[in-house]
Amino acid sequence: MDAWSEEVLHDDLRIKIRIDRLLFDSKTEHQRLMLFESATFGRVLTLDSVVQTTESDEFIYHEMMAHLPILAHGNAKHVLIVGGGDGGMAEEVLKHDSVERVTMVEIDPGVVAFSKKYLPDICKGAFDDARLNLVIADGAKFVAGTDERFDVAIIDSTDPIGPAEVLFTEAFYGNVKRCLNAGGIIATQNGVPFLQSDELTGTLAAFRKLFRDATCYLATVPTYVGGPMAFGWGSDDETLRQISEETLTERLEASGIETRYYTPAVHKAAFALPPYIQDMIR
Ligand code: SAM
Repeated sequence: MDAWSEEVLHDDLRIKIRIDRLLFDSKTEHQRLMLFESATFGRVLTLDSVVQTTESDEFIYHEMMAHLPILAHGNAKHVLIVGGGDGGMAEEVLKHDSVERVTMVEIDPGVVAFSKKYLPDICKGAFDDARLNLVIADGAKFVAGTDERFDVAIIDSTDPIGPAEVLFTEAFYGNVKRCLNAGGIIATQNGVPFLQSDELTGTLAAFRKLFRDATCYLATVPTYVGGPMAFGWGSDDETLRQISEETLTERLEASGIETRYYTPAVHKAAFALPPYIQDMIR
């Protein structure tokens, strides 16, 4: 009899992925952590039954949340990651030699310890990189109190249930803005608008109060079902979103980074929003 992992993210929609080999299933201090192998998706990490990342398509999500804001910024030296316990975001950010320091604030040490051991293909050497400053703390408390300053802030959190709920508030975004250097950019994981429109609408309502340029961009990540996923974008420098494809190409080539989803053309196209999503962020 096959075993299945059932994602219960929505009241009337449940997604099941067959478990070909269960590797781990336990509770940390904050959430239930499960890892299993799937023929289609490779290793799959779920937190409280919600898919966090899979070996097969993590490159899409991590490339679009790391390279897009860093290449738009053009001179990002200090990067903040809130969440990102699997190490995949840090791994992608640290590919940029121009990045001097990454501060990663993750609430659950169990996710980090677990990912180092069971998800080496996602985190690779990120946790051993001397530029990484791993802080085990609530991201909301960290940004409220830190005197560190950042050029790019990436909010790679779970969905707004449980410990991540606080990371979808105006107070949190206001504190992130406080920590951004001039010309800084915030990018946020904002779910699949077709199924989680309230999250996106809420984030953009806050961003419109806080940033001169507030919008979102899209990428389709197969395991986040329901259509394209949205990433919140906030910056006080409106020119950053207008960077030309030619300049982005020069910056990507100079970085020497090989990508499988991100390209400068995809970068520019990601901001082309269909009317049903434009209506959510008015
Ligand atoms: N790619 C995933 C997604 O799109 O949902 C997110 C991946 S990552 C595993 C999410 C991380 O956010 C988890 O490790 C979780 O522990 C962390 N997290 C949740 N709430 C947090 C908070 N308040 N402060 C810091 N980290 C938090």
